[in-house]
Amino acid sequence: MSSDRATRKAKAAEIRRLLDEEGDSVAANTRGFNEGRYESVGKLDDYEELKTEARAIKEDAIERLPDLIARVRESVEANGGTVYLADDAADANRYVEEVCERQNAETLVKSKSMTTEEIEVNQRLEDAGVEVWETDLGEFVLQVADEAPSHIVAPAIHKSREAIADLFNAHFEPDEPLETAEELTEFAREYLGERIEDADVGMTGANFVVAESGTIALVTSEGNARKSVVAPDTHVAVAGIEKLIPSLSDLQPFVELIGRSGTGQDITSYVSLFSPPVGSPTIDFDDPETPLSASGDPDDREFHLVLVDNGRTAMREDDQLRETLYCIRCSACANSCANFQSVGGHAFGGETYSGGIATGWEAGVEGLDTAAEFNDLCTGCSRCVNQCPVGIDIRG
Ligand code: SF4
Repeated sequence: MSSDRATRKAKAAEIRRLLDEEGDSVAANTRGFNEGRYESVGKLDDYEELKTEARAIKEDAIERLPDLIARVRESVEANGGTVYLADDAADANRYVEEVCERQNAETLVKSKSMTTEEIEVNQRLEDAGVEVWETDLGEFVLQVADEAPSHIVAPAIHKSREAIADLFNAHFEPDEPLETAEELTEFAREYLGERIEDADVGMTGANFVVAESGTIALVTSEGNARKSVVAPDTHVAVAGIEKLIPSLSDLQPFVELIGRSGTGQDITSYVSLFSPPVGSPTIDFDDPETPLSASGDPDDREFHLVLVDNGRTAMREDDQLRETLYCIRCSACANSCANFQSVGGHAFGGETYSGGIATGWEAGVEGLDTAAEFNDLCTGCSRCVNQCPVGIDIRG
């Protein structure tokens, strides 16, 4: 048998395995997201106008990206924070590790961030002796299972409630077996709450970074991100340079569109805007009696914005890949893909990103060889194109 044929046979066997083990959960969850999206955008009278506006803001922002990088540096520094522009993953990771070293950090808590998945910062920090905890429920499930995300918004979409219960019961051996979604969530909330209280550093991504004010915008379904920002003294936000938008008013169409396009929510449960370092005192969880106003000094807080290039400047200069930088990572393209709905991101994925626009992201940050793998599963049907809130022609 030729090596090509053997590779294809092995790949087909792997897809069959994923269809069997993960296909039902992926299908049920993506179907739910799609139904939610149809219903939620159907209620918007100005859906097309919002999409046009969002597209125009991204086109403008990417056009003047160098100016926005300079602007956000000024505004973050004026707020008392620091901006680091990292050339690549290794550069970003080195900087984050140095921040942790200076803080003598033993533990770091993270909210969900695909950019930190892209640069693989967890591994780097753990190698340096820093204990890293994912505090997003889906990411926590994957950390316990030692698996990679299968979806850019809902990383554990491939796992059923029963599979998560089995995982937690085997790993944590609770007094009473966990079973319901409420029990699983409550357990994770308490477990991770203790880690957040003890953490030396909090790390987030950013859905958007506002250049004029140095504001980090996070749209989330859980309250873990804002806790991870406020509880530790030091906050590190890691974001691709394409996340920059000029002004706060530019957020409006994206806040309208991102939840509707991804999970079908009219608005995500939390929309958090931070212009860090946040101005609240640091909290001493060992001394809950002392009023917050007397428990710490806001001046002790540190904030580091790590802007990651990692191929994005080259993407900006590439006629084919520039449009990928308009992506707000809502996941509508993956959810609407008939093949993704069946196999999920572990089959339909590259090094980091999976489904739909992931072809562009993988080509830009990992290289064409990784991106080429997507062609096996993309039938070029174009179903994803109409679903994109910023009008990206993924086939381009
Ligand atoms: S390409 Fe469009 S639909 Fe796909 S994740 Fe990005 S913004 Fe969403």
